[in-house]
Amino acid sequence: MMRKVILFAVALLFVSCARTYDPLAGKEVFTLLPTEKEVQIGKMYVPMAIDENDGRYPDREVQQYIQEIGQKIARHTPRKLNYQFYLVNTQAVNAFALPGGFVFVNRGLVLSLNKEDELAGVIAHELAHINARHHAKFLEKMYGMNILLSVASIFAYQTKYGDILMNFGKIGAQLISLKWSRDQEREADRLGVRFAYEAGYDPRGLLDTFKIFKKMEKVKQPEWLLTHPLPETRIKEVKELIAKLDLNRPLIKDTPRFHRIKKKLEETKPSFDLFYQAKEKLVQKKKLAALELLNKSLQLFPDNNASLTLKAFILLSEDKYREGTELAVKATKLDELYFKPHFFAGYGYFKLKQYEKSIYYLEKAKNLIPDFPDVYYFLGRSYEALGRLSEAAKNYRKALQLSDGKRGWEKDAERRLRRILGS
Ligand SMILES: [Zn+2]
Repeated sequence: MMRKVILFAVALLFVSCARTYDPLAGKEVFTLLPTEKEVQIGKMYVPMAIDENDGRYPDREVQQYIQEIGQKIARHTPRKLNYQFYLVNTQAVNAFALPGGFVFVNRGLVLSLNKEDELAGVIAHELAHINARHHAKFLEKMYGMNILLSVASIFAYQTKYGDILMNFGKIGAQLISLKWSRDQEREADRLGVRFAYEAGYDPRGLLDTFKIFKKMEKVKQPEWLLTHPLPETRIKEVKELIAKLDLNRPLIKDTPRFHRIKKKLEETKPSFDLFYQAKEKLVQKKKLAALELLNKSLQLFPDNNASLTLKAFILLSEDKYREGTELAVKATKLDELYFKPHFFAGYGYFKLKQYEKSIYYLEKAKNLIPDFPDVYYFLGRSYEALGRLSEAAKNYRKALQLSDGKRGWEKDAERRLRRILGS
């Protein structure tokens, strides 16, 4: 309790002197969330965003392409941040951003587009939300000074003396699927069109994207429209914005590189389609059918880290620890920010009684997503097996704090914790 009071006082101190330069307004504004904290929060949720979207696409050239096109546009935005761009595996037609400069483009989005200026239009729009501090404003409004309290507690935890991870998962889920207001969309369109144009792209690319989305909507609404609504008035306003620009200067519409990247994604699409079918089978508890689909998926694309991870999960749940662990380890090598395979590898090594390795992967998993209780429980078990009792106790305590009471190991963790403390 005392610690909470102190943290609260620290948070208040932050608030009283938090001022940040707003490059759009061209002046200093008072904020509960200075840029440095906004970046810390955004960065903290990058692994969660990657995990929820089935990992990053496992191909260096593809990642580099997204990074380069993103940086090219980001250079023309007023907020000087350490922008990062990621292509994630999910088939959902979407792109989204986290506060502080982190932008995610889905595999499904690139597959639905026909040329580079369309992609540039969407990325520029996401950069506009970041530059207008829309995420930061959401956090300020929803959590007020509690957001600083939460940040303080999470970072305190990382120094190993922390309190519970307040609201970690809840805030993350909200950030990942923030729905923008009409006014915010208008502002993001106004800025995004400008950013894309200043970076040398044909701003009409965004209109072509809108056309594609409108057409798709007749069958299934693209996920991007769930969070960035697209009424006819919005299209009309974007047309008006573009009409004011000089379109006779040389503008990039397309590049061969876009098509090379898209071709790569098209070639691996059947493998990912099988992954999503397997996921569905698993929901219906048809493990064997899921496994068969995953085997086919991995035959088509052995580096499919989403399929490797899901297959590892199924094998581990069938007590096939050696093979399951091997697949999970392979998936961690393809994406070091993907939480699930790290957890599965750590769990698998625990079951194989290779405790040093188990600790290695579970500690990594813990640093990626710090509020998953099972990670702490199996860390506790692994440390205990090696006789490192104070570390074991710390992890059991954390596991019990974070547990919803339905994990199945709570009684065991309590008993082990009591035994360690009593000895
Ligand atoms: Zn938007």
